[in-house]
Amino acid sequence: MIENNTCNNLKYDYLIHGSVPVSEFWGISYPDCNDALRDDNELKEKCLNYSELAANNEGYLSDYKKYNYFLAQKEFAEQQGRCFSKPFVLQASRTEHCNLSCVFCRPEPVEHFHTMEKEQWIEALEYLLPPVVEFVPYCWGEPLLDNCFDITCNLANKYKTPVSIFTNFQHFNEKIAEIVLSGVHRMLISIDTSKPETFKKLRKGGSLQKIENHLSLLKAIAGKAGMEIPWIGISAVLCKSNLNDLPLLIDWAAERGFQGLSARRIVIRDNINKLLIDEEVDLLSIEYRDMHDKAIETAKRCNMVLNMPAQIYSNAVDAPCPCPWTHMYLSPQGKLHFCAFSHGNVVGKIPIQPDYWNSKDIMSLRRSFFNKHRCKECASLDSIGAIGASQVRGY
Ligand code: SF4
Ligand code: SF4
Repeated sequence: MIENNTCNNLKYDYLIHGSVPVSEFWGISYPDCNDALRDDNELKEKCLNYSELAANNEGYLSDYKKYNYFLAQKEFAEQQGRCFSKPFVLQASRTEHCNLSCVFCRPEPVEHFHTMEKEQWIEALEYLLPPVVEFVPYCWGEPLLDNCFDITCNLANKYKTPVSIFTNFQHFNEKIAEIVLSGVHRMLISIDTSKPETFKKLRKGGSLQKIENHLSLLKAIAGKAGMEIPWIGISAVLCKSNLNDLPLLIDWAAERGFQGLSARRIVIRDNINKLLIDEEVDLLSIEYRDMHDKAIETAKRCNMVLNMPAQIYSNAVDAPCPCPWTHMYLSPQGKLHFCAFSHGNVVGKIPIQPDYWNSKDIMSLRRSFFNKHRCKECASLDSIGAIGASQVRGY
């Protein structure tokens, strides 16, 4: 039930067995890359012939995507030869626009939001979606506010790519419900507490009641259309103000049909103010351990999937990059970062040049991941499995 993954184990699981814990949390099954496949010469040939595979693009995890995923693992297992694979998870934000000013993200309201031009966004997604097995349109912006969200989902559908979104779920109506029902596979809703007053304090401008109303609307529209709602989970940020609410929140979520909860600690950012420092949780404290154990018990009782930090990963600075060449992140400014977050490793900007993947810069960046140590941004993070830290699953 409690797993303390070392970084190396996580890397092995992720790149060789295709069972990254965070994806299990999302309910994703990545393609099976077992030993038999790894020794299959015909498959190796196919991996190297993307154009042929692209023509055979059936099912959500098409052959093209599957072989790209397989090849990425094989290249990292062997650590030699040329690098052909592309990252298999795409995170992309068209806009920074958000309707909230959460204390741990935007303590002060932001005056100017950068939003990528529609044509540029479509062109970039057409280029980046075909090889990826998961698409997360999120990151410092609210996806349901984007007036291109329907286009985004249609493009993901065109390239048979499952869509997972993080949303504050404050802006919602029938039209958006229809887009969500036909185009979104997983939704993580940002809720840090089931206490309305604490919610208002942390998620400035937001309302817990609105989320409940919007969830009811989504379920009603799905019911009328005879459709299933997407997999729903909660994304909670752990602060001093809500730490002890977590077991209660798990009960609250289970009653409302949520299937999982992912709790992360505050990510310290450059613009942190005093409030954030006051709100930061010490993951080694007795108070944290106590709450952690209660949360696990509650999740077990509610049959709910739970990801949360078990403890600080103490030697993270010396550990390898937990997501080497697995993710890419497209910023609203059009920069491509090769990182599971939005840190560094930028190679180029859109529009992407035709020989982009074979460029010297890309090749040299790829090779650097074989032995890459963790960047300082990652070393200070410690929440869920995707970043190589302790993980707890309450089921
Ligand atoms: S809802 Fe998300 S993007 Fe918006 S302010 Fe809060 S944390 Fe930031
Ligand atoms: S911040 Fe650095 S170590 Fe962490 S995932 Fe990104 S590239 Fe890897």
